[in-house]
Amino acid sequence: MNDARVITDVPADAREVLKRVFGHDDFRHAQREIVADVLAGRDTFVLLPTGSGKSLCYQLPALLTPGLTVVVSPLIALMKNQVDALHAAGVAATFLNSSLDAAQASRRLEGLRQGRFQLLYVAPERLLLDGFLRELQSWNVSRFAIDEAHCISEWGHDFRPEYRRLAEVRERFPGIPVVALTATANAHVREDILSGLRMRDPRVHVASFNRPNLTYRVRGKERALGEIVSFVKSRPGESGIVYVQSRAGTERVAEALRAAGIAALPYHAGLEPQTRAKHQEAFVRDDVAVICATIAFGMGIDKSNVRFVIHYDVPKSLEGYYQETGRAGRDGLPAECVLFFSHGDIVKLESFLGEAATEAEAARGRAQLAEVKRYAYADGCRRAALLAYFGETFEAVPCGACDNCLEPRAERDATVPAQKLLSCLVRIREASGFDMGVTHAIDVLLGTENDKIWRMGHDRLSTFGIGTELDRRAWRHVAEELVRLGLIERDPARFNVASLTPAGRRTLAQRTPVVIREASPVAARAKAKRGTRGTAAAPVLAGDDESALFERLRRLRRELADERDVPAYVIFSDAVLREMARVVPRTLGQLRGISGVGDKKLAEFGERFLEVTGG
Ligand code: ADP
Ligand code: ZN
Repeated sequence: MNDARVITDVPADAREVLKRVFGHDDFRHAQREIVADVLAGRDTFVLLPTGSGKSLCYQLPALLTPGLTVVVSPLIALMKNQVDALHAAGVAATFLNSSLDAAQASRRLEGLRQGRFQLLYVAPERLLLDGFLRELQSWNVSRFAIDEAHCISEWGHDFRPEYRRLAEVRERFPGIPVVALTATANAHVREDILSGLRMRDPRVHVASFNRPNLTYRVRGKERALGEIVSFVKSRPGESGIVYVQSRAGTERVAEALRAAGIAALPYHAGLEPQTRAKHQEAFVRDDVAVICATIAFGMGIDKSNVRFVIHYDVPKSLEGYYQETGRAGRDGLPAECVLFFSHGDIVKLESFLGEAATEAEAARGRAQLAEVKRYAYADGCRRAALLAYFGETFEAVPCGACDNCLEPRAERDATVPAQKLLSCLVRIREASGFDMGVTHAIDVLLGTENDKIWRMGHDRLSTFGIGTELDRRAWRHVAEELVRLGLIERDPARFNVASLTPAGRRTLAQRTPVVIREASPVAARAKAKRGTRGTAAAPVLAGDDESALFERLRRLRRELADERDVPAYVIFSDAVLREMARVVPRTLGQLRGISGVGDKKLAEFGERFLEVTGG
């Protein structure tokens, strides 16, 4: 790992080759250390954002090391470009993939046998052919470079099963070092790469994922099409991508833009290959300003002057969102990223997850959607929210380039409600001896009459019913803000039960003024929607069959999960809900009899589920 390392510098001839072959006067910061590690024969993991110069990290060492560097890449379309560029720089490089005819391939193989090349780009399917691996063993391979290494992980946005088999390559070439490179990685992906490629005592290079020239915004989706048209019209001559989930959607958006006099074309897998290539070409050459594309578009597009990336539909993961927005502003100039968000999109994507092959896959999908929601609802800096996904703490807030930092929402004094909520949490703890969720505290403040409150005697708390001046949604927002301000903390390991932080206790004791921000429009709308759904789930059950009941239970589960910002399965698994729908428990005792309902969940959720089953 990076700590306690001896800082190695690159040998002098590396600088010479950098200048002579690649034409660069100096290394970019990370490159120097990476090249030094690679040249030292270490397994090396390189995680740098797009455009930071990863290729050089294996290309340059390839020129300074005797033997062949084998570059594994899934992007067949890009191989030719890269090899052409290397040829232009005078480097002996070649590629093998399915785009070559037999005669071309055999000429290249002959050259490889004679050791005429320093770099070979190869698609993983090709590499893994048994005969090919055997032949490779006689070619004096000095290093493997695994490009787009995130393809090995199901957590990445572009999983390729063939990448899993690269472990076999390691076994065949035990002494040969590996460089793995990617611009994508949260912690899961990172682990998958390190373990999947059997990296030994690797050097790990991780750079910041912050893209300072990108501005991030989230808008409600109600008038998305009109907003997109006026956005594009206000930027004449600027180039941009509008990502749309469906093929028909790309056509519709392109049509709307053309109707407004903007040169726009659709791009999706349903188009004839020639049409698709023509549209892509027109965009790359700036013949059309805007391309309306499904997410298939962009991988392997090297267009540096993309000035905006708009998401008409909600992306499936923040990882994907980061990659797609990453195509904007590669020239380092300011560019805009706008996400049109609707809670309905999330619900739709969640329902698609029901079709996932395995529960693990569905769980992964839900976890990824929860991250997208977290980003869209963020009250604070978007950049900080996005980078948090990559495990990065972004502290330079306000960042000056996101909607929440540029147009901070109105602030207002909330000292009185804050005092009420904080003291309510304290009273609950005093009365019951343990912390409970924010929802329960709000029930107490609103003077809600329900079983849980009576059972626990919380209708006798001094804070019972003292908060009727705000509605439930307003209280939720106050609670979120107190979390953001560090006055309350929630414990995700225990159903998000809430407690006061030391700062919260001080604020309560000293009556410190508390200023909160208004809810963001996106979050306010979504919360309002959730609210109505909640009341619709009121128990009117006579005659309902099992599957209808199951649906209601699922809805309640989603609501509880949303309130706590956890994946639904954290509340109860599908199996538990199915059993509930079958047994239809009417009492806590009956509910307790269902496998998967432990005491803690019984106390936390029992009453709510009984409301649905009619207990
Ligand atoms: P990545 O693979 O990380 O997306 P590339 O390898 O395609 O990035 O490099 C991005 C751009 O940066 C290329 O145009 C490349 O020529 C340029 N570049 C790479 N290294 C340097 C350097 N040391 N100095 C200046 N430009 C560089
Ligand atoms: Zn910001």
